[in-house]
Amino acid sequence: MYFLLFLKQIVLWFIIFANNINNMMLQIIKKLTIIILLATAPLLIKAQQKNILVIHSYHSGLSWTDNINKGIYNSFVNEQNSTVDIRCEYMDTKHFEDSAHFTIFKNYIKNKYQGIKIDLLICSDNAAFNFLTINAPIIFPNIPVLFCAVNYCDSIPQNFTGIIEDIDIKLNIETILNLHPNYNKIYIINDKSITGTSITKEFNTIIDKHFNNLRYEYLTDYTLDELKLKLTTLNKNDVVFMLLFNFDRLNNTYSYDVILDILNPYISVPVYGTWDFYFGKGIVGGNITGAYTHGVMVSNMAKQILNGTNISQIPVKKGPTQLSFDYKILKKHNISKFKLPNNSTIINQPFSFIRNNKIFFIYLTIVLIIMLVLIITLWLQVKKVKQSLKKEKKLLATVEAKSAEIVAALEIVEQSNKLKDAFLANISHEIRTPMNGILGFIELLKIKNLNTNEKAKYIDIIETSGYRLLNTINDIIEISKIESNQITIHQSEINLNDILNYHLNFFKPIAQNKGLQIKISEKITTKNAIINSDKNIIDNILTNLINNAIKYTHNGSVNIGTYVENNWVIFYVKDTGIGIPANRIESIFERFVQVDTQAVQMQEGSGLGLSIVKGYVNALQGKVWVNSEPGIGSTFFFSIPYNPVYTNCLVDEKNTNQ
Ligand code: ADP
Repeated sequence: MYFLLFLKQIVLWFIIFANNINNMMLQIIKKLTIIILLATAPLLIKAQQKNILVIHSYHSGLSWTDNINKGIYNSFVNEQNSTVDIRCEYMDTKHFEDSAHFTIFKNYIKNKYQGIKIDLLICSDNAAFNFLTINAPIIFPNIPVLFCAVNYCDSIPQNFTGIIEDIDIKLNIETILNLHPNYNKIYIINDKSITGTSITKEFNTIIDKHFNNLRYEYLTDYTLDELKLKLTTLNKNDVVFMLLFNFDRLNNTYSYDVILDILNPYISVPVYGTWDFYFGKGIVGGNITGAYTHGVMVSNMAKQILNGTNISQIPVKKGPTQLSFDYKILKKHNISKFKLPNNSTIINQPFSFIRNNKIFFIYLTIVLIIMLVLIITLWLQVKKVKQSLKKEKKLLATVEAKSAEIVAALEIVEQSNKLKDAFLANISHEIRTPMNGILGFIELLKIKNLNTNEKAKYIDIIETSGYRLLNTINDIIEISKIESNQITIHQSEINLNDILNYHLNFFKPIAQNKGLQIKISEKITTKNAIINSDKNIIDNILTNLINNAIKYTHNGSVNIGTYVENNWVIFYVKDTGIGIPANRIESIFERFVQVDTQAVQMQEGSGLGLSIVKGYVNALQGKVWVNSEPGIGSTFFFSIPYNPVYTNCLVDEKNTNQ
């Protein structure tokens, strides 16, 4: 045959070669070659064709056998350019089991195939396997035999290989016990067919080996009616294990397809099984063996042999099984699908978009996870950037704040430089003026013929200048003390009204000298006026404020007073003097500041008075402020904590004393 193929190839090359050469003789040879090729084609095809004879144990129309057949045919049909001819024979042992039938069948096969070249034999199930074990060496000597769906054969003859039917009884019983830990009894339905008997044998071995205490009972030797009756008596915790029921005790046969339809109405307990022909027909499930896959697997072996592999190189394999369950039946018996073994497949489940689009959802999940990772990474990145921005912002704010502080400090330095200049000018004026007065008038006193009046006048001027100098020096000492935090508070019982009276009496002559009126316009009731505070400091504050009031008032009056408000004693000194422009009110409490007006410049003074006042008020934990209007007058207020000595007195009572 290989020679023929080689020849065909040579001829084809020749035709291609002839096509390219324009020669009359060659064209004639080419045409002749094509004619020969067409004439020999059937011979060539025939030479390539392989004949397979399939012998099934059972009859056509039995779903098990039909499915095996389908598996065999489909896998060859799917093969392109298949040159395999498959012939099928059915032993029909479910209907004819006697030895006479086997002899007739043997002769039938022998006669039918004696002139036909068979390249490969395939058999399904035990009866056909047994038949070929005995007869194949005689009828089809040296022809390889493949088998499938064969249960528990003791030995495999030479030139045989195939698929053993593995129903894995152990796994099935384990599954039943897992799903029904409180089972009462397992009823095993089986028949006495060749397969049924071999399964019973295997079943007993496995129970002896692995399930010593298993509570079980065979339902084997029953008629259909007896079986029905028996099934109706089962306890609610019983379980049925359906192996086979093709024959009953009276040898009535029942096909795989209908037996469960007949029995189901009589069974209320869960039924398990191992064959695919029962699956989907009312059983819960089990480790299912499929006929179709047996067909596919055996034809794969067949292809290997037809392609030249020696049968001895192909090992016997176990047929595949799959833990499969019927969702509808699981639900009927309240068995959770989550209790099923991990790799189970479930049929009849309600439509689930996710389950039906598993691949899509796997991709989607992967994409989502990747996206999530990306989002988290981005988010972390953004967070990091935000944090660093925040830090930078903070740093910027700190830098800005520090810059502002530096600018303010520079301004203060500038200001204090200006103030220092003003102070020096002012102080030198305040020291030089009285000193010049003192020295000048001392010179004048040296003149010999001065009269008494003149002498008294000069001494008066010297005295005034001396006091002015002393005041300036006192101010400088006071402000130095304040600046260096050297003021010490000496608390004692003091009478606020007495203090006011003292200052009124002290300043009355000075005010009157200037043509001004001075009076106390408000006092505190006598008992409430006794508080704990520092008298000297209060005196000093009032002296400065009244002094200024008289100094900066040319007409009118000066009123002094005190009252209590919200635990504070408030003092005020009100005048009808020149007032202070609004834009200078803030700065007059600063050191060395004199309001820059002509009227003020005419006045003598160090510019320290109000800063001394502010320093003292601060030392007493109080505040100082002023209300003023240029040309109308000013009112200076200061507050100190109200610490009354007699606490049961009414403090809000005001006593106005004109
Ligand atoms: P001085 O020695 O110049 O009086 P002060 O510190 O006591 O220094 O006062 C600061 C400035 O406040 C004064 O130069 C003056 O311009 C203004 N001032 C203070 N008291 C009054 C007042 N009662 N009326 C108007 N101006 C006043």
